[in-house]
Amino acid sequence: MDSNQLRRAILERLRFEQSMGIVVVHPVELERPAAVETPVASTTAVPHPSPLTPDPSHLFEETPQARSADGHAAKSKEARWKDLEARAMACTACVLHKGRTNVVFGVGNRSAQLVFVGEGPGADEDRQGEPFVGRAGQLLNKIITAMKWKREEVYICNVVKCRPPENRTPLPDEVAACNPYLTEQLELISPKVIVTLGGPAAKTLLKTTQGIMSLRGKWYSYRGIPVMPTYHPAFLLRSYTEENRRAVWEDMKQVVDRLKQ
Ligand code: SF4
Repeated sequence: MDSNQLRRAILERLRFEQSMGIVVVHPVELERPAAVETPVASTTAVPHPSPLTPDPSHLFEETPQARSADGHAAKSKEARWKDLEARAMACTACVLHKGRTNVVFGVGNRSAQLVFVGEGPGADEDRQGEPFVGRAGQLLNKIITAMKWKREEVYICNVVKCRPPENRTPLPDEVAACNPYLTEQLELISPKVIVTLGGPAAKTLLKTTQGIMSLRGKWYSYRGIPVMPTYHPAFLLRSYTEENRRAVWEDMKQVVDRLKQ
């Protein structure tokens, strides 16, 4: 449609609306022929656009429809979290449900840039229903603080949501049964970086049989998200050597740098 056709269409519309008493602009304003565009020197002030000058800026403004679409999207994400957590709380998909006091779903910022994934809840976590609250959790908090982040700014969860008896490593069928929860958590958060803590978490996300000694300190990818495997804080507490502490710190420095990119 050329500018004259556009002018005519608008004119007809305005006349119709005016006849309905819903427009105050006089259509005569629109009856002038389209002005021929003349180049404007760069030093000349740009005149205010005429009512008929197509102004594309509205295309970039948020429309009420876009707002409601966004609002709806935000709601549905919230609903997905609610549904996921409710399913986990009632889950009996593996034998670990029998010994749990609480399902330890995960904690923190659900829009976090950084997610820590551990192995499974221990006794303190099982009692309180929150991951990494025991001694290992306190060490993780120190690591997060040293990275200049706050615990509440990151998201923390485990591969399995119920405590394995005697803190044993979760069995493959338990990891497989619980994996849909972790998968959906990571999908919903869509973080910039994932840090896996200890061998089981790295093996689960990276689908590898390699040990943490050879995995740590290098970048991998989980569904396009960079993954940095490092030692579990519980291992650090057991082997609190200068070498291990330095290794974890070197890994976390890489994570900090990556988050700045
Ligand atoms: S560990 Fe996971 S799969 Fe097993 S019962 Fe708990 S929530 Fe369900």
